Amino acid sequence: MTLSEVAALIREKGIRYLMISFVEMNGISRAKLVPAETLEAVAAEGVGFAGFAAGDLGQGPHDPDIMAIPDFSSLHVLPWQREVAWLASNLYVNGEQWPYCPRTILMRVLEKASARGYRLMAGMEPEFFLVRRENGSIAPFDPLDNSAKPCYNQQALTRNLDFVTRLVDSMNELGWGVYQCDHEDANCQFEINWQYSDVLDQCDRLTFARFLIRSLAEQQGLTATFMPKPFKNLTGNGCHYHLSLWDAGGRTNLFLDRNNSHGLSQTAYWFIGGLLKHARALAAITSPTVNSYKRLVTRPTTSGATWAPVYITYGGNNRSVMIRIPGPGRIEKRTVDGAANPYLAAAAILAAGMDGIENRIDPGPPFEENTYAYTVEELLGRGIRVLPSNLNEALDELEADEVLREALGSDYLLLYLQVKRKEWDEYHSTVSDWEIERYLTV
Ligand code: ADP
Ligand code: MG
Ligand code: MG
Ligand code: MG
Ligand code: MG
Repeated sequence: MTLSEVAALIREKGIRYLMISFVEMNGISRAKLVPAETLEAVAAEGVGFAGFAAGDLGQGPHDPDIMAIPDFSSLHVLPWQREVAWLASNLYVNGEQWPYCPRTILMRVLEKASARGYRLMAGMEPEFFLVRRENGSIAPFDPLDNSAKPCYNQQALTRNLDFVTRLVDSMNELGWGVYQCDHEDANCQFEINWQYSDVLDQCDRLTFARFLIRSLAEQQGLTATFMPKPFKNLTGNGCHYHLSLWDAGGRTNLFLDRNNSHGLSQTAYWFIGGLLKHARALAAITSPTVNSYKRLVTRPTTSGATWAPVYITYGGNNRSVMIRIPGPGRIEKRTVDGAANPYLAAAAILAAGMDGIENRIDPGPPFEENTYAYTVEELLGRGIRVLPSNLNEALDELEADEVLREALGSDYLLLYLQVKRKEWDEYHSTVSDWEIERYLTV
């Protein structure tokens, strides 16, 4: 979009403000609101932020301003306040691309993919709970939504029709092609699904979707949470990534081969090989919090299953494996959770998959059984590896992974490890109620 096209769009839609937004390492959105009249200056120079105040962006309090320059192709009019347009941006310092900007990191990996003739398309599936916050704790907000197996519960969906229809209408006003919204496998948990698109666009949409869902929930006095495991006995919040790799022109799906097993091409199988090889390091990015690893367990929830991967496996239309093949020409990476930074997760996944293609990594045979029926020892005995059981373990794997180091940049990887190890140490320095109960009298 040229600047004059953007200016015309702003006039035509009656947009009076621009919300210049970006996502830092932890997936948190930061923004400034500027009047639409500043468009030209914003497009040329960006909007300034004190980076040290704005999250984990690799800056100290003494560093020069971070400038956020919007990508106008990401323009979203706020469906609940149409005079404001939200824009995803890339970060610059002293006129140079800032290597600690997650969106820029993804764009760099996309350039490498594009140079090899690849274009990644993705569809992301956010799950979230609607909760009420009460004196520092949370509870599912609807007391009637209390069955042990609440997935697709028609009554619970009906009680939330106002929220759900506003959400679908909002996304469709933006042209996302929502095709379903359902009550998920935990109490007061929902999911919404829209059409897949170029992965960068999809990351912007997912970022905006979290903003939209949180805002609509707040308008009802509720909190929407994407936290991976808010309740220990309930299914957690995944954010599966569905993926297909196309030629640069976007005409041919290189993952599709209807004559091959599960309708996947050899290229797709090598891509899977890469995801399996790097799975333990990838977890540090796709499941990036202490809490993430409480989702990746085999111990069943009240509903009967966590639906989350534990073993490094792939299979057909099997929701107990790490990489599912839902249908011909696409794969689903199920490790990604609601805390993942969309851009970093996409960058790391694409880099791992391309490594698989480049090195023709054979993924081995698919796993077509119920992985949850096995113990770790049984599957280890069959040569199947396990995902890290906590963040600390995952970070050690990430540190040793040269492909992901190259994808994220070694300076960014260093910062990532510092920030996340601090998070782990902070967690590990607390003493939980469980420990008191278990060890007080030992
Ligand atoms: P499930 O719950 O079975 O995992 P959903 O229907 O919730 O699947 O989500 C499927 C996602 O996959 C959607 O975002 C959809 O647009 C996306 N998708 C469909 N085909 C492709 C494809 N070829 N490449 C990438 N994503 C795709
Ligand atoms: Mg000030
Ligand atoms: Mg789904
Ligand atoms: Mg789901
Ligand atoms: Mg899914």
